[in-house]
Amino acid sequence: MTNCLFCKIINGDIPSVKIFENNDIIAFLDISQVTKGHTLVIPKHHYENVFQLDGDTIASIFRPIPKIAEAIKSAFNANGINIINNNGEVAGQTIFHYHVHIVPRYNEDDGFRAIYTNHMDKYSREDLVEFAKRITDNIKD
Ligand code: 5GP
Ligand code: ZN
Repeated sequence: MTNCLFCKIINGDIPSVKIFENNDIIAFLDISQVTKGHTLVIPKHHYENVFQLDGDTIASIFRPIPKIAEAIKSAFNANGINIINNNGEVAGQTIFHYHVHIVPRYNEDDGFRAIYTNHMDKYSREDLVEFAKRITDNIKD
């Protein structure tokens, strides 16, 4: 896609610091370095978000992620890794070419924060059963 920053990185029109490449993906350092070693994995083909992907394509994107994550963890002696994919503006997506963040974690104050608010007091078991029915009714082959 001509106007896509990540397509330009794939084509070499914009420089990036690459750490891994195969037929399907490239992995390169995120310019923001939320934590040291923060990496993005992107498909070479332009897909906007998870809703444009089928199972085989997403499998090809995730296949090398364990070995990339392992390499980042070893290189910087990280204590853990967050793997994140934002889909849609409301979910924090700013570049609309599908990508997976690999964020090595060092401690609670290392620069990365995800806030999960517990709302279990708001919903009953019946609510959850009804949510599950709504979702399962929408699962397509
Ligand atoms: P999102 O917010 O869409 O999930 O993540 C987009 C990511 O792309 C951000 O973490 C941002 O730092 C990164 N990014 C934006 N522009 C560039 C760039 O020109 N080069 C690199 N390497 N990363 C970029
Ligand atoms: Zn693109």
